[in-house]
Amino acid sequence: MLLGEPKPEVSAVVENYLQAIYKLKERDERVFPTRLAEVMDVSIATVVGTLKRLSKQAMVEVGKDKEVNFTDRGKDLGEAVVRRHRLAERMLTELLGVAWHRAHSEAHRLEHAISPYVETKLAEALGYPKTNPFGMPIPGYSDGLYQPPMKSLTQTQPGESTMIERVPEEDRLLLEFFDDSGLRPGAQLKIKELAHYKGTITLLLDEEEVVLGMDVAEKVLVRAS
Ligand SMILES: [Zn+2]
Repeated sequence: MLLGEPKPEVSAVVENYLQAIYKLKERDERVFPTRLAEVMDVSIATVVGTLKRLSKQAMVEVGKDKEVNFTDRGKDLGEAVVRRHRLAERMLTELLGVAWHRAHSEAHRLEHAISPYVETKLAEALGYPKTNPFGMPIPGYSDGLYQPPMKSLTQTQPGESTMIERVPEEDRLLLEFFDDSGLRPGAQLKIKELAHYKGTITLLLDEEEVVLGMDVAEKVLVRAS
């Protein structure tokens, strides 16, 4: 596509589906309508109807076992929405001073409005960031995705020192708690206690103790080795 060319007519709804499919595949999940209904918080009937539209527009293929896969066109569009979403999050936190924990929800509004031309200007202004503010890689730049060796907090050992690479971004209240605790990508931490019997892990972040439940800790990724 040429710079400055108007954005192709893909609706926000379609973009949201493509983004959801991309994000599930990014986590190496196989995508089925039931799972999509769960993450998009809509009924299965709605998902099935929208998938029919997406199939007609040659963006996805739905297999006999109902597995959903991208066509090349769908994958490119899905990747583009995710890239614009993650760049928008960087813009919000770095250029506009928006609170870190609000960036994800605000970016969901902006991602549909950024044209390919503005996207290139945004990437340039931000210095081609490798990740969003929560540590997810920004796809689509030439030098590949940022994927350092990572493991879950629950796979660490007491006494281990490491750095946060990625936190889950979907739960706004959880993000506020992370924000207050300084638990963000780049933060150094030490594991104080891993208490599987009570389901908690205690971290030291800047000398402060932070206690997480194992279900949350499972989704926080730190640098491995
Ligand atoms: Zn986000």
